[in-house]
Amino acid sequence: MKMNRREALKLGALSVAAAATMATVTGCNEGAKPASASKAGKKVCKHKIVVIGAGFGGLTVAKELKKRDSSFDVLVIEKNETFMSCPFSNTYLGKIAGVNLGTLVHDYAQPVEANGYEMLHAEVTSIDRSAKQIHTTKGIVEYEILVMSPGIGYNYKGQFPNWSDEKIKHIQRIAPGALIPGKEHVILERQLVDMEDGNVVITVPSDVKYRCPPAPFERASMIAAYMKKEGIEGKVIILNATNKVSKGAAFKETWKDLYADIVEHIDFATIQDVDPVSKTVTYHLADEMEDKGYKVKTVKYSVLNLIPNNISSPVVEMSGVETTTDGFKKVVMNGCSFQTKTDKDVYAIGDVVAHGIPPSGQTANWTGKQCADEIAHRLHGKAFELEVKKTPVKAGNVCYSMVSDNPEEAIMVTHDFSWDGSLIKGAGHVPKAPSGIYRSSATAKATRDWYGGIMRDLFA
Ligand SMILES: Cc1cc2nc3c(=O)[nH]c(=O)nc-3n(C[C@H](O)[C@H](O)[C@H](O)COP(=O)(O)OP(=O)(O)OC[C@H]3O[C@@H](n4cnc5c(N)ncnc54)[C@H](O)[C@@H]3O)c2cc1C
Repeated sequence: MKMNRREALKLGALSVAAAATMATVTGCNEGAKPASASKAGKKVCKHKIVVIGAGFGGLTVAKELKKRDSSFDVLVIEKNETFMSCPFSNTYLGKIAGVNLGTLVHDYAQPVEANGYEMLHAEVTSIDRSAKQIHTTKGIVEYEILVMSPGIGYNYKGQFPNWSDEKIKHIQRIAPGALIPGKEHVILERQLVDMEDGNVVITVPSDVKYRCPPAPFERASMIAAYMKKEGIEGKVIILNATNKVSKGAAFKETWKDLYADIVEHIDFATIQDVDPVSKTVTYHLADEMEDKGYKVKTVKYSVLNLIPNNISSPVVEMSGVETTTDGFKKVVMNGCSFQTKTDKDVYAIGDVVAHGIPPSGQTANWTGKQCADEIAHRLHGKAFELEVKKTPVKAGNVCYSMVSDNPEEAIMVTHDFSWDGSLIKGAGHVPKAPSGIYRSSATAKATRDWYGGIMRDLFA
């Protein structure tokens, strides 16, 4: 029997997923110094520098510390057995040529071998800063210096206070946010491959601070490209809680030019509820609330990508360091630094830092390098100031979004970083291509090159 293109897609993705689960696991205790017996009686190890999270920030700081001094004793604690990339994952949903799950999944054994730090696969469950102990599912780890790069969590409770814990779990399973590395992207991809005609609804968080602000709009573009390619009848409906669209002019130009009959973007749409049985989302519009009284609208979906409000990973709360008072609860930093304001022995990098720089993988990589410099100088007893305090950093963040397939085209934003006296700030610029429009094939090539480059930086 001959398989059609979509059946082949289903089979291909499944075999890569199976291969991804066979990745190597590395251990904590080989080089670790034994420490005193723990209260829980569990095995304890001690390391000079412990990094929580082996994502974009954590892998960078661990590698860069070892580069600066190979004698540094560095342990990374990571709960997942394999690395899964959020950047480039929307091209996997768009079925861009040559992209599959294997493009996103990486084996942690590789950077451990290449860079000489250690890795413990365990989940951090609590942190006792006074005892300098991290409690994990595999025992207690003691540290002298702690670096937190744990990424984000979802704040369903804050956004949907009336939802029960069961409902939240159910919605998370059937309509994953797919902003956190792991199975969520795979679930979403399966749903898209399995869908017949119908709408894909993407909700954008009501809190303007969330991981990778262009991600929902890149996702909408890639899913529209996929539906167009596969002849799937339906729309990609973006229910945006605000009227903010990152790289907005560039995305809107693309939707008008390429997906006018597919992408529908609705401003100020506040999600009220999801009914998984009738497969409907109910929402209201802000102006209708104010002007005409309370009007609820309903939209039917075949696939729902409900992206809830973001909050710093629970690891930040476990550490008890001072956080911002907004919904995200980012870590308050000690001036122009990646040391926390609360504790000189605790540092934070990546999406959880409260500097005014964009929460991106590229920024996490930059913060990891800066933080490694800061810690290395400290351990070598040398004075240190971040370069950005004196000189603005050109294009500290470059973030690409693939927007079309056949031909492949992308858009981009760059951010220059500077110190404004209280925060490290990022000023964004979305350039047009020489053709006079935002998207181009050259930027699509740069997107692929960027992804290959940053993966080499993290894993080699
Ligand atoms: C769809 C999408 C597209 C994106 N595209 C881009 C892009 O094109 N360019 C770009 O620069 N950025 C992009 N990003 C943003 C980028 O993924 C994040 O900004 C980046 O991953 C942040 O790095 P981090 O180290 O802070 O967190 P993460 O990379 O998420 O790493 C956190 C790590 O901590 C681990 N962890 C969490 N809690 C615990 C615990 N209790 N115990 C042990 N381990 C724990 C997690 O498992 C994870 O591995 C995109 C994001 C999404 C969702």
